Amino acid sequence: MNFKELNLSKEVLAALAVCDYKKPTPIQEAIISQILKNKDVQAIAPTGSGKTAAFSLPIIDKLNKNLTDDFRLPRALILVPTRELAVQIDASIKKYAIHTELKSATIFGGTKMEPQVNKLKKTIDILVATPGRLAEHIKEKNVNLAHINTLVLDEADTMLEMGFSEEMAVIFDSFDKKPQTMLFSATLGESIKKLGEKILESAYCVNIDKTQKGTHKIEQSVYYINKDEKNSLVSYLIGKNYQQQYIVFTRTKHTAEEVFNYLVESGLKCDSLHGDKTHGKRQVAIKRFRDKEIQVLVATDITARGIDIKGLEYIINYDIPNSVDDYIHRIGRTGRAGMDGNAINLVSSSEIYSQKVIERKLHIKMKVLEETSFGKDMVDVIKSPKILVRKEAKREVSGAFGHKKVKVKTKKKTTKRDGDPKAEKFDKKKVAKAPVKEKKPKKKIDSATFAKKKKSYTSIKGR
Ligand code: AMP
Repeated sequence: MNFKELNLSKEVLAALAVCDYKKPTPIQEAIISQILKNKDVQAIAPTGSGKTAAFSLPIIDKLNKNLTDDFRLPRALILVPTRELAVQIDASIKKYAIHTELKSATIFGGTKMEPQVNKLKKTIDILVATPGRLAEHIKEKNVNLAHINTLVLDEADTMLEMGFSEEMAVIFDSFDKKPQTMLFSATLGESIKKLGEKILESAYCVNIDKTQKGTHKIEQSVYYINKDEKNSLVSYLIGKNYQQQYIVFTRTKHTAEEVFNYLVESGLKCDSLHGDKTHGKRQVAIKRFRDKEIQVLVATDITARGIDIKGLEYIINYDIPNSVDDYIHRIGRTGRAGMDGNAINLVSSSEIYSQKVIERKLHIKMKVLEETSFGKDMVDVIKSPKILVRKEAKREVSGAFGHKKVKVKTKKKTTKRDGDPKAEKFDKKKVAKAPVKEKKPKKKIDSATFAKKKKSYTSIKGR
């Protein structure tokens, strides 16, 4: 199938020709025509599947056909969890709508209200916003959403996880009538199902599974490694593959900063992306990475969600994420738009359980990688469950709380013979060759001498 067969207008097709998209991705093929037919849509589609274009192209198409007044209130609203994603989606919309008169704008938190209030006074056809800040504008009556006829919830699972449900309710209340709604999520949990039941009407449902054949493949591998060796392994892996760019994911901003500093010291060009950085600095980091000025971006989960870096082939999970959803979002940064990707997981002993849960839930088996000198003991442990059990057993501590006592072997004192490295080696052959000292035979004393000795002894004693 090609884009022409999807009945898109010539303005949109002209924009796509510039983007050099040869054919629609599976999600585009599945939903563009449904959206053009005004259907609600529920799509389980990971980022990287081309979903931005999948919802933006038909929205642009429909809005462009109804350009009546010069001043227009927002008619399409796209809600996203993070400001980075808002900026990115807005940039894509501007690209796809280049041959139209449509106007798009972003609204997100972490920046001043005033410039946004001014922005909201101008014509906006498509508004891309984070729920928290948009709800604030609604409460202060800075924005009129009465004309919204199309609503997109992008990365809805993340928005719910971030606790935006109240703000979302405020936003839904501000529409005059129920809009055509599209619900996108990387995963299909209970909360997403419930949200879908509430806001969708006879929706067209589609599930684009990243692991499906025909989309694209992400090679998922694992290094079992000791925690304190992770920094050097990351630096080594990236350093030896210097032509590739990497996003390194960490669970906390503290670890992100630590890894970032280590990699800078190793001489790698990198930047970090986490909640302690201002929006400006985060945008600069993303831009530098996109422009290939830096090789590595060390990022926490939330800040890196939805970020689209074309052609990114590698991500490294410095630690295993807290949830399977986070894992899916992380690996979604690579293998985008039909390309293959690689997700490398660094797993220390305390993370093995979480890694196994991910494998089980996603029905995958990560390929075990080894690098000489890195975590070799750990690999042996994983390969042999018996060793794992033995090692775990040894960790039991005896004592006050009634744990089973485990004998701890104390270090034996070494002697020259049994192993002191400084000592001479015990050489059996040498010992065999050594001259054996013969025992001196005891002198036999005759009775006369004995009597003489006895006499002198008693004389001394008697003095
Ligand atoms: P998304 O999942 O919307 O974040 O898109 C991921 C990447 O795929 C973006 O870099 C898009 O520019 C790119 N993309 C979207 N649709 C297509 C297509 N049909 N062919 C090639 N690349 C695409």
